[in-house]
Amino acid sequence: MPDASVNNDLLARHRAVLPSWMPLYYHDPIELVAGSGRRVTDAAGRTYLDFFGGVLTNMLGYDVAEVREAVERQLRTGIVHTSTLYLIRQQVELAEKIAARSGIRDARVFFTNSGSEANEAALLFATNTRRSNQVLAVRNGYHGRTFGAMAVTGTRSWSASSLSPLQVAWLHFGDRLRGAYAGLPDADHIEAAVADLREVLATQVGGDVAALIAEPIQGVGGFVIPPDGLFAAVREVLDETGILFISDEVQTGWGRTGTHFWGYQAHGVVPDLLTFAKGVGNGLALAGVVGRAEVMEGVPGISFSTFGGNPVAAAAGNAVFDYLSRHDLQANAERVGSLLLDGLRSGLRDQPHVAEVRGRGLMIGVELVRPGGTVPDPAAAGVALEACRRDGLLVGRGGLYGNVLRIGPPLTLTEAEAREGLAILLDACRYRSDGGT
Ligand code: PLP
Repeated sequence: MPDASVNNDLLARHRAVLPSWMPLYYHDPIELVAGSGRRVTDAAGRTYLDFFGGVLTNMLGYDVAEVREAVERQLRTGIVHTSTLYLIRQQVELAEKIAARSGIRDARVFFTNSGSEANEAALLFATNTRRSNQVLAVRNGYHGRTFGAMAVTGTRSWSASSLSPLQVAWLHFGDRLRGAYAGLPDADHIEAAVADLREVLATQVGGDVAALIAEPIQGVGGFVIPPDGLFAAVREVLDETGILFISDEVQTGWGRTGTHFWGYQAHGVVPDLLTFAKGVGNGLALAGVVGRAEVMEGVPGISFSTFGGNPVAAAAGNAVFDYLSRHDLQANAERVGSLLLDGLRSGLRDQPHVAEVRGRGLMIGVELVRPGGTVPDPAAAGVALEACRRDGLLVGRGGLYGNVLRIGPPLTLTEAEAREGLAILLDACRYRSDGGT
């Protein structure tokens, strides 16, 4: 059993001074004090294999020499950051690489410090360009915790407090287990989503709509994957009236899905704007928006960020980008991700409370339900999460009902580590008729 007493004092202090709504994983929350490769160590000296990479914040794993050295080099200059009012070589270099890789023609890059800010900026660019505050968003999507980002977040548990002036109309896109499109073949699913979009445009909005914002795979929503090609079909309708498309690539970017560098590429469509964050700085705060020049330039004098693209974060970003490319981690995500996905599917096939194992690359979800149906079972996910932790594996949790285990390890995960984590997961997800897993 984990030694809960180690962090009793820190936990009490946390509870006394930080807001009570800040979530902490585990019945006995852990403090991580060291990391190397794909493993982290807690204050009690226990080491865990990290199958969630922080929360997808560690793209390459822990203590990667190339990233550490790039950051140290920058720190040794004496300049952590001055101002984005001066030229920053690291920022320009990173922007060049991202623009070239974005797939967006004549792209511009604006750096921020978080995914929320990136989405906020993207919404700002789109609404200003289109002179409209109406936006389309997707049910069960998550886009962050700033005013606009919360307004387009389609799960009430994350967005109940938003009072944003954006007018948002909601679309059905993804869930294949329950709801309007449950069990439909891909072509019918896409047709239904397009019909839904047309109906929303005809009945729920008036005048111009600025943009649609969507995640190619819903992250916080439980790694929900719409059919390939859906965004292209939707885009055809958007193009009829010039509605812009924002692809939120905060979780799906940088090769995580294996088959593609960006999630949008599964759909055969290029967005007007895309946002990125999470693991780009391998733990340092680095995020941003990439967009077509007309859209990014269409907003006069609005955007300055004190810290966005600062030299230390940008140095880390360059090192991460170069490492990803040099080691072809996208291919590794595909290879090791397939091993995990196949292993989970075959190992959990007979489990009555596993409704679905889905995923792409190193973004894999296991949806737990009451046996034999599709009624979500968040308690079972909680039990499985604790069981994994007990056996030395950290995984994530999500989904509209909190009943999905989320697996998103660093893209450097080896086959041996995948097999090690797989064995723990299979055991943790085994159904036990005493009510737990
Ligand atoms: N967009 C998506 C898809 C996310 O998953 C998140 C965070 O989980 C965000 C935006 C917000 O990013 P941040 O927490 O860095 O503000």
